[in-house]
Amino acid sequence: MFSRISLYLFTLVAFLLALTLNSLYPRDALWMLFTLPVLSAVVLHPRWFVANSSVIIVAATRLVIEYVTFSHHVPAGFAFRFVVTSCVSWVIALAFTFFVIKSDRTVNQLRQLAMTDDLTYIYNRRYLDSSFQSLRATNAPYSILVFDIDRFKQVNDTLGHSAGDIVLKGVSRLVQKNLRPSDVLIRLGGEEFAVLLPDTQSDDAVQIAERIRNLIERTTFAYQEEKISVTISGGVAERQGESLEALLDKADIAMYEAKTAGRNRIVLG
Ligand code: GH3
Ligand code: MG
Ligand code: MG
Repeated sequence: MFSRISLYLFTLVAFLLALTLNSLYPRDALWMLFTLPVLSAVVLHPRWFVANSSVIIVAATRLVIEYVTFSHHVPAGFAFRFVVTSCVSWVIALAFTFFVIKSDRTVNQLRQLAMTDDLTYIYNRRYLDSSFQSLRATNAPYSILVFDIDRFKQVNDTLGHSAGDIVLKGVSRLVQKNLRPSDVLIRLGGEEFAVLLPDTQSDDAVQIAERIRNLIERTTFAYQEEKISVTISGGVAERQGESLEALLDKADIAMYEAKTAGRNRIVLG
């Protein structure tokens, strides 16, 4: 609400300034048209540095052109009009930059929110889809681990949904804490998770997966008076030229093999 009102005010003030300058010094006011490319530059690169340096470049260009036009004879009052029009352009550029930076920040926050899981605050499926798009362009080796909490329905059925939520949050926190900064933990949905392991071949990925499996098995999650223990089954797949969707399917199939083989284990796909 506040920013809408200030945007209306900004539009009105910029319009009145332009109108006043145009009636007082029509020729100098024409130079203010150069504020337009400054604003475009700010939209493309929303940074204060870009706004300030574009205004300086425009002012310097104007000085050079005016100097050539006047052929060394500067008319009276030029310095004053130059300072006034340049300052007005600068103020307009700064106010505009403020709005662009603010809305850019809001868009980034919304994007982050859209890719974050509400319960565990780790990334969600949408993030995986977008990181697939950026990974598609690279040829670097990487692996995926898909894991699912075993017999999770029993936790909900015996202790309630809130107990299940505590376990989901606890597992996410525990795994996140034990990954490298470059690894990405994602909640695929329900009690199913994925870990993207960049620069990791299958042997190392299986070791990492085993470490996570072991860690979860040894940890108890507190819910009221209860101590809850869970295990996971996981599937690992290393990228070997296939599409990322196919890689995820491969890890998923390996995970189901781990389930049918008796759960609480890791299978390499
Ligand atoms: P399996 O070992 O074969 O994976 O058995 P499971 O019981 O873990 O699997 P199943 O698919 O039968 O049950 C998954 C349960 O996870 C059912 C669903 O209610 C529960 N669940 C999914 N999302 C959430 C959630 O956000 N919170 C809680 N508490 N439970 C959830
Ligand atoms: Mg399960
Ligand atoms: Mg499941």
